[in-house]
Amino acid sequence: MDFDEFREFGHASIEFLINYLSGIRERDVLPSTAPYAVINQLPKEIPEQPDHWREVLRDLEHIILPGLTHWQSPYFNAFYPSSSSAGSIIGELLIAGIGVLGFSWICSPACTELEVVVMDWLAKFLKLPAHFRHASEGPGGGVIQGSASEAVLVAVLAAREQAVASYRESHPELSESEVRGRLVAYSSDQSNSCIEKAGVLAAMPIRLLPAGEDFVLRGDTLREAIGEDVAAGRIPVICVATLGTTGTCAYDDIESLSAVCEEYKVWLHVDAAYAGGAFALDECSDLRKGLDRVDSLNFNLHKFMLVNFDCSAMWLRDANKVVDSFNVDRIYLKHKHEGQSQIPDFRHWQIPLGRRFRALKVWITFRTLGAEGLRNHVRKHIELAKQFEQLVLKDSRFELVAPRALGLVCFRPKGDNEITTQLLQRLMDRKKIYMVKAEHAGRQFLRFVVCGMDTKASDIDFAWKEIESQLTDLLSEQSLVARKSGNVGDLAQHFQIHLGAENATHEKSQ
Ligand code: PLP
Repeated sequence: MDFDEFREFGHASIEFLINYLSGIRERDVLPSTAPYAVINQLPKEIPEQPDHWREVLRDLEHIILPGLTHWQSPYFNAFYPSSSSAGSIIGELLIAGIGVLGFSWICSPACTELEVVVMDWLAKFLKLPAHFRHASEGPGGGVIQGSASEAVLVAVLAAREQAVASYRESHPELSESEVRGRLVAYSSDQSNSCIEKAGVLAAMPIRLLPAGEDFVLRGDTLREAIGEDVAAGRIPVICVATLGTTGTCAYDDIESLSAVCEEYKVWLHVDAAYAGGAFALDECSDLRKGLDRVDSLNFNLHKFMLVNFDCSAMWLRDANKVVDSFNVDRIYLKHKHEGQSQIPDFRHWQIPLGRRFRALKVWITFRTLGAEGLRNHVRKHIELAKQFEQLVLKDSRFELVAPRALGLVCFRPKGDNEITTQLLQRLMDRKKIYMVKAEHAGRQFLRFVVCGMDTKASDIDFAWKEIESQLTDLLSEQSLVARKSGNVGDLAQHFQIHLGAENATHEKSQ
């Protein structure tokens, strides 16, 4: 492809994206394709001769798009947002076009140095303790990982290596394998699956401690678990706490956890994959309590900071602990500036060798939105979630399961789990909005998350109308069946509602 054609292809692709994103509300958020539909429409081999890019874009429109779940749609209300913005999309294009890998400073000095700059900008913007900045006196700093899972794994592996080294020093009578066999780590039963996975990958059991009724893990629970383990000769290594759990966006009590971790010399990592964006807001300053005492933390810019996937910020109070744990050298990786302070070789801070120029899309996003634009985005999601919460509260057929937290509302139709399951199934079958379920103490519930690049109040109304009208239809159908079979009493108990002429008493929210 020559440069003229490249230009045409590029312009047409941007047009394509603008049409896709501006018309995203017109598409069902979930696809209608059957399994194998995409596979069956595509050739079994690479075309022997090049296809014209117009044919490729046409197939993207007709074969690939119908098989997509539209993550940028405002009607995508599942998981947590995977945010994006015009600046970030262009940034991603430029990263690919410039095509550098920045695993050491010499491989592309600007790649490393821009990352140092944007990570310090972000640390300031989020009001993190100063020792997390590269520009601080100490050994702290930030790095961009691909995902929260990678950041957690890096913390777990580094903590493990630090613990092995220090325990072997104090217990020279024990072999390395004896020490490794005694290691143990902690998190809460509300933490993301990636934490348990990090334990599997690090070959170290992670005890998932019970969070309280309010979904929060506290220091006394950790203290009890560590006490049991120490008494049994095990070696506590790391506690991974969460600010903004995946299920309900609960915030572990970092202050009490950090006191226990300090006492037992246990690494404390905070996974703030979603909620970290709110550290920037003065009205959310409580969330930052205790962060001055943690060893490391991560926050996904691709969740709440309008930078497209993949982009997960990680900060370390003492980066040397990671660098020393992961430093594996080869002659071809050496350069004359290595080891100088302020010039990190980020390959020592991560799992792969190669690394993307992610700092470029962060820089472009931050510059094109400004700090105010970023804060406004987080505030808007919070306001829209409040709007949804009010709609839930006004309809007596529903109940909240946990207090609204940032852009997440956890709710359920009153009654047993079956009605939640059936309601969600109906919504999924209709494909107008997409939510997922979560469960705590045997109770299942729905998670409504504000997502999308430019979600509006009218989108929240649309989603609510879809949810409550589907509950109405579900109850009508169930009551018809019950009347026919004469089981009206059982059904009322099942749904914990009164089946009147219209099946349920509820105050319509509209
Ligand atoms: N931690 C929390 C609290 C999450 O909610 C998620 C995903 O939603 C993750 C970690 C995993 O994030 P990633 O996909 O970036 O690994």
